[in-house]
Amino acid sequence: MPVPIPVEDLARAAGIEEVKVLPSEQFEGALICDDVKSRGVILYNGSRPRTRQRFTIAHELGHFLLPWQRRTSFECVSKDLNLTGADTDWEVQASRFAAELLLPQRLFEQELRKLGDPELANIVQLGDYFGTSIEYTARRYVEVGGFACAVVFSKDNQVRYTVRGEFFEHRLCVKKGDRLPTKSPSRAATGDPEDWASLDAHWWLQEATGAQPPEEVYEQTLWQDNGYKVTLLTYDV
Ligand SMILES: [Zn+2]
Repeated sequence: MPVPIPVEDLARAAGIEEVKVLPSEQFEGALICDDVKSRGVILYNGSRPRTRQRFTIAHELGHFLLPWQRRTSFECVSKDLNLTGADTDWEVQASRFAAELLLPQRLFEQELRKLGDPELANIVQLGDYFGTSIEYTARRYVEVGGFACAVVFSKDNQVRYTVRGEFFEHRLCVKKGDRLPTKSPSRAATGDPEDWASLDAHWWLQEATGAQPPEEVYEQTLWQDNGYKVTLLTYDV
């Protein structure tokens, strides 16, 4: 399979006759298909970055190919493409399908192993390689990377959501809606994503009930546009 995964070619191979830009920006993506889902058309918001367009197309292809999703039209708004914000299981399933299609686990792990220890720069590089957004790449990195890593997604210093890998054993003390920790350099207006900072663990982690907590948590932050930030957390194991 070539990388970036040729999502439009795959869609055509699966029976999608056309992949085209939506006439309005009311939706992120849409699928119109026949009732046995042998033929269909995928539409996407063409004003979005290419990484987002690819994800939207893969998400609509998920609606087309998941056999129990039997409808002849799907219209998906921004929230539906958000793995944590979608209201229905069908939307979550279509996005999971898209993440698996664009970042196939085996290929992703192969590339990830070449890059070594956790670094935001590695996530950026993997995103460039697979043609996926930083957000989805970071989630996948944490989920399948095998590191003691977590990622905090924020906007205007307020936590949007967090993702913890299975080897990050301690619960975060920040959750959706909280401010980023006062002492954390992630609060700064700008900074260098290559810089690591270390912080007393209690700023990020809940009081431990089981495993002995680390003394320090290391963090790196990527400053994106419009107040969006991605903060990578790890500790010594
Ligand atoms: Zn959808």
